[in-house]
Amino acid sequence: MNRPIGALQVPFHTEVDGDGVTMSVCRLDQVYYAKIKLQMKNGGKAVPASILPYVIVHATTEQPGIWTVLTPSGARTGTRDDAGSVHTAIRRSGHYRIYIKEPTETFVPGDVFIIQQHALSDGNNSGRDVQPLAEFEVTESVDCSLSITVQHPNSLSRTRGNDADSIPSNKSALKFTQDHVFNTSKQALDQGGYVISSQLWADASRTYGAQHPVIQNSIYRETLAAIYSEGLTVPTGTGKSPNDRTLNFAGREIEFNNQSTTGGRSTLSFLEDNGQPDHRMTADESLRRTHPATMEFLLKMMDELDITYVRVTGAWRPHVGSTRHRYASAIDLTHVKKNVTDENNQPQLVAIHFHREDSAASYPLRDGGHESAQRTRTREFSHKVHKYIANARAQGAAGWLGGPWALTNGELGVSTPELAQEEAFKTDSTHVHHIHISTGADQP
Ligand SMILES: [Zn+2]
Repeated sequence: MNRPIGALQVPFHTEVDGDGVTMSVCRLDQVYYAKIKLQMKNGGKAVPASILPYVIVHATTEQPGIWTVLTPSGARTGTRDDAGSVHTAIRRSGHYRIYIKEPTETFVPGDVFIIQQHALSDGNNSGRDVQPLAEFEVTESVDCSLSITVQHPNSLSRTRGNDADSIPSNKSALKFTQDHVFNTSKQALDQGGYVISSQLWADASRTYGAQHPVIQNSIYRETLAAIYSEGLTVPTGTGKSPNDRTLNFAGREIEFNNQSTTGGRSTLSFLEDNGQPDHRMTADESLRRTHPATMEFLLKMMDELDITYVRVTGAWRPHVGSTRHRYASAIDLTHVKKNVTDENNQPQLVAIHFHREDSAASYPLRDGGHESAQRTRTREFSHKVHKYIANARAQGAAGWLGGPWALTNGELGVSTPELAQEEAFKTDSTHVHHIHISTGADQP
């Protein structure tokens, strides 16, 4: 039917009901667009939360507990001019929620969305919901106009405001007008900036348990279960912190240095009372915020390269840096070791320290000069580790990689001839002393 153009300006039309009474009915076919800029604190400053994978779900006013997926799996917050922004269509009243899209999960618009719970260390659900980053409440007025309010359901009962342990306060309602019917970020109704506090990052990042399907279906099931059931060892001895954790398996060891859980331990546990002073998260709970697929990547690499020791200084964290560690797929390594047999059939320990200034011997490429046998062993092992990770990236199993040395695919012998010149590992001033691995394909 050809509708007069003027009719698009009218948010309602008249209908005659069964009793012959003429009444106004709000139109359901008007689509509006809204945006919000997700931000986070970094060094005391609010910065955009870019390239964060998210999923938006909707529940109608009539069925408030039934959530339907609106966005496809690849949705990520914007970059550059649109840094941190989420831009969405609003078709009707009800509640809209933005959740962090969990790594390895796939969502299709129209699917029913199940709100996940933080897992207890025994693997069971805790009854405490993973929190959305934000909720929009969209209401319809008698004149059929729609208003939108940024709020938060706050089912973990946090305080509101700007305190370290708080989550954001609700915003005031804004009204959609004919200015907001165009599907462009520029013209969408602008709900402004929204700072995701460390506490909200923590509450919105799922605590994984040993029942997770990635763990149950892994050949490293028992080892992963030790991490996700909080079965790690607290090492003792000189220089050890009560917040260090050690995982021993198959003659191998991972040290989760206390630095990898500093940010988590400064926020509140998902539990109302976890038995800790001030209910701060433990190192064990913090490590369970890193996705099992990331831990599995590390175990597989150790297994396949026969690595005996890895030191981890970064994993999931809510408080500093880009969104890469605030998402659940990143890990930082400073040291790896393995045992080899040398040319005289003697056992040798080869230790790599990913450090640009302190460990020239760990540089994975030939540097021209004469090499000692030890330097050759270290270089070859370092090359192998870098190549393994760069191959994962080339095959889509890893995203951004950083380290003390910029290294191209070609230099690492990664078999992508067309991308030989491309840097597999980037370097910058923050990656002087570790390598950073973003696992999976959720963050490029
Ligand atoms: Zn990192």
